[in-house]
Amino acid sequence: DRLPLTEIEFNLEKDSAMAEMPGLKVGFRPNAKRAVNFDLFFNLAEISEGLRIDAHYNADLYDEETVRGWTRAYETVLAAMVADPEQPVAAVSTLAEADRLAIGAEMNATARTYDRQATLTDLIDRSVAAHAGDPAVEDAEGTLTYAALAARSDALAALIQSRVPGRGQRVALCLPRGAGMLAGLLAVLKAGHTYVPLDPRQPAARLASICETAEVAAILTDSAETAGFAEGDALPLILTGDAEEGATPEPVQVSPEQAAYVIFTSGSTGTPKGVAVPHRAVVNFLASMAEEPGLSASDTLLAVTTVMFDIAVLELLLPLTKGAKLVIAKTEDVIDGFKLVERLNRGDVTVMQATPTLWDMVLTAGFTPAKGFRMLCGGEPLPADLAQRLTAQGAELWNMYGPTETTIWSAVKRVEPGQPITIGHPIANTELHILDDAGQIAPVGATGELNIGGDGLALGYFNRDDLTATAFRTISLGDTPRKLYATGDLARRRADGEIEVLGRIDTQVKLRGFRIELGEIETRLRALPGVDKAAVDLRARGTGDRQLVGYVVPVAGQDPAPEALTEALARDLPDYMIPRAWVTLSSLPQTGNGKLDRKALPDPAESASVTPLHSQVAPETETEKRIAGIWAKVLGHEQIGVTDTLFTLGVDSLAVFRIAAQMLDAGLDLEARDMFAHPSIRQLAAFHDSRGGEPARPARPSLKDFRNGARRNERRPAE
Ligand code: AMP
Repeated sequence: DRLPLTEIEFNLEKDSAMAEMPGLKVGFRPNAKRAVNFDLFFNLAEISEGLRIDAHYNADLYDEETVRGWTRAYETVLAAMVADPEQPVAAVSTLAEADRLAIGAEMNATARTYDRQATLTDLIDRSVAAHAGDPAVEDAEGTLTYAALAARSDALAALIQSRVPGRGQRVALCLPRGAGMLAGLLAVLKAGHTYVPLDPRQPAARLASICETAEVAAILTDSAETAGFAEGDALPLILTGDAEEGATPEPVQVSPEQAAYVIFTSGSTGTPKGVAVPHRAVVNFLASMAEEPGLSASDTLLAVTTVMFDIAVLELLLPLTKGAKLVIAKTEDVIDGFKLVERLNRGDVTVMQATPTLWDMVLTAGFTPAKGFRMLCGGEPLPADLAQRLTAQGAELWNMYGPTETTIWSAVKRVEPGQPITIGHPIANTELHILDDAGQIAPVGATGELNIGGDGLALGYFNRDDLTATAFRTISLGDTPRKLYATGDLARRRADGEIEVLGRIDTQVKLRGFRIELGEIETRLRALPGVDKAAVDLRARGTGDRQLVGYVVPVAGQDPAPEALTEALARDLPDYMIPRAWVTLSSLPQTGNGKLDRKALPDPAESASVTPLHSQVAPETETEKRIAGIWAKVLGHEQIGVTDTLFTLGVDSLAVFRIAAQMLDAGLDLEARDMFAHPSIRQLAAFHDSRGGEPARPARPSLKDFRNGARRNERRPAE
């Protein structure tokens, strides 16, 4: 029902009243239109009083408010052009300043009171006083009450104070996930210092460089082995085992403006940057989260996120500030997926926060979120079909948006089934502004860069005033100058006031929720021997997943092997930043102005991936053949050598989960942790067969049973 070539018509005519015909007295009467065949038709008539605009629009596509907005914008442009005909068109705004400021003001009426003088320690002390005997935290070892957790963190804080005097020093936190890690985190704050979270699984060189950049005074850890990266370093280790039971720290006056933590994120110039976040920003954040999405003392939250990702702060601290219970999942259980579902299915957990990737995995592993269960989802765009599946049984889902630089989440939105996915509105005491190229508030519907201001703003990048000055700028909107963080996210405001995130301005990408600057990997890659030029891109694989692809132009006469590149990168970069496929090129494609043309980089052919360069040892036994078939299918390879390991194949955690799920489906009694213990197909098959076909564990239902909503009725024996 539409014209094939044009959908919009713009017509300018002189009004009949102005027409003259010699010798005749002329009168015209407009002929009312009964139908229009354009989606949008603006008819402009010059009449004696000025300009009359008739707008016809297809009401299935546009709403009245949008069309009226455009007519107002047109009027503003014409007025500005008449006022100063010399100015370039690009300088003319489509919005009158008052309208622009009104958009900003309306969207950001978020002022709320909270205790601006409190530190995180104050908040938690209050909870301890009110809930001393209630369960605070559960891990694989058991449950601690609020009082017990406080005693443990007191003893650790006293120990930290004895080793790191003063206040406001950075203390690295390098502990296995569990109540001990939480007590350590609280202890660093209680001791008056700032914690720098480290995941012991990241490469030693990266952890060491983070400690150096953050000018860490000491490392809090449970053993020299966990903090193995610091070996040979002069950095003192504070061993949690040295804490004296019953000891209490000296009270310290900590300003709410002091950094509570410094969390490192990928840096485009080759080294990670540390975001320093003050207590006050986190206190405001937690108060806002307790209201929306909401959390109360009767809730139990299952924490699944690594401490190096700032969203873990919500998981670890929000329950504690409200007297709720926190359950800390082990890293292996999160990777396994099924273990997580087992814990969720016990029925006591009421809230969980995860990235879309992890939510997808939990659904695949058989979890059915029921009414009354609250899901927080964020870190990357929420796919509409995932939202639909998560809410199918009436559970509550929230889309959470925000960068580390503005304290965990800056916007939230309860996702309603069937509604478009948006990030909703700013949290308490937070401003969101979508700015156009000229740094002015963009009109409703126009795409611009999302900028964030308010009480969530970080102090900046630790010891990087240069980077801080570029990202956190003072901008005048109207007469009021304000500090805003430029997110690099493209966004637009919808007519209903909600904000949609549309992509990135730069080359920052998200992979399974991890924030990655492609530039950081490229810088590392270019520094490797044999590499002349390099590029990295995130590409979809045939299997639907996305993977990082490395593109290398070798130095003339050299041919750096993908395995060597992978190995060299893995020394400095975490697993999720290592390209999984490689392409050798003679030159990098360029755009007209000589920049890298990322879109023109070829998709890696099968032959370009790392895998075929490995052993290619064919499977022999029946079990090897069955396992190899599954691995090949999940990894999207034709064939996989049975002596290649998960590590040389560069298999990521999501793929491990998928493989484990399919092995279960195929009746193979093997799971994710078996894959880590026996990382090649040959080893895994031998392990399987060594049990002589007699499952060492009770038989378990297949994945299909989970999908059908059946509960796993038998559990593995306690380990
Ligand atoms: P991080 O600092 O790791 O939290 O990453 C922040 C970035 O992740 C944002 O600037 C966005 O690009 C992206 N992001 C986070 N949450 C969302 C969301 N709910 N929807 C879309 N993008 C998101």
